[in-house]
Amino acid sequence: MDNELIEEPAAEPRGVRPLMIVVSAPSGAGKSTLCNRLVAEFPNVAYSVSCTTREPRGEERDGEDYFFLSKKEFKERIKNGEFLEYAKVHGNFYGTLEDTVLYAMEEGRHVLLDIDVQGAEQIRGSLGRLDPRNPIRRGFVDIFISPPSMEELERRLRGRGTDSDAVIKKRLKNAREEMEHAARYSCQIVNDDLDTAYEELTKAIRAALGE
Ligand code: ADP
Ligand code: 5GP
Repeated sequence: MDNELIEEPAAEPRGVRPLMIVVSAPSGAGKSTLCNRLVAEFPNVAYSVSCTTREPRGEERDGEDYFFLSKKEFKERIKNGEFLEYAKVHGNFYGTLEDTVLYAMEEGRHVLLDIDVQGAEQIRGSLGRLDPRNPIRRGFVDIFISPPSMEELERRLRGRGTDSDAVIKKRLKNAREEMEHAARYSCQIVNDDLDTAYEELTKAIRAALGE
C-alpha cells in the first residue's frame, strides 16, 4: 500500500486540498471496518465527531465517539444554523457541526463523515450555495458502500452479534431503501472481498486528490 499518496499534513505541499469524504452504507455492509482501517493507516484522515440525541453505548465517550446532546440542545443548534446537515436516523437525531468540519480542514486534515443517506443528500443540496472557495465545496467526495447481496448483509449483521433479531429485520428493511440512494454517490464500492474494497476506497480518495 502506498501510504505516501495521502500525506501527513506537515509534509503536504502548500495548496493541497483537504477532502471532506462522505461515506454512507446500509448497516452491516462493512463501513466501520473499512473506515477504521483508513483512519488507522492514514494519520491525516480523521473522523468528524457528530452530535446525537441517542444514549451512549458501551464504552462510547462524549466528544470522542459523539457529542451526546439532549433533544433541547440539539434543537437549539438547529435553530442557530450550526449544522452542516442533520437527520433523524432509527428514531434519534444525528448531525454534523459545520465548525467541526471546517476546523479540521483548515488544519489541513481530510475529514471523514460517516453519515446516513439523508445527510449526504442535504450536503449535496447545499454545495451549490457555498462560495466556490469554501473548503467543503472544494473537498466534497461521496462514497457509497454496498454489501454484495442482501443475503450476505444479513449474514454479516447476524455474525456481528450486536443486534437482536427485531433490530436486524429493521436494518434489512432500511437497507433496501438506503440502497436506492447508491446511484447518487460519485463512487460506489461493493464490499465483497475486504482487501479489494479497501483498495477501491483508497483509489477513490487518491483520484479525488488528483493523484
Ligand atoms: P457497518 O459499519 O457498515 O455497520 P461493520 O464494519 O460493523 O459494518 O461490518 C459488519 C460485519 O461484517 C462485521 O462483523 C465485519 O467484521 C464483517 N465484514 C465487514 N466487511 C466484510 C467482508 N468484506 N467480508 C466479510 N465480512 C465482513
Ligand atoms: P449509530 O447510532 O449506530 O452510531 O449510527 C447510526 C447511523 O447514523 C449510521 O448510519 C450513521 O452513518 C448515521 N450517522 C452518524 N452520525 C451522523 C450524522 O452526523 N449525520 C447523519 N445524517 N447521520 C449520521
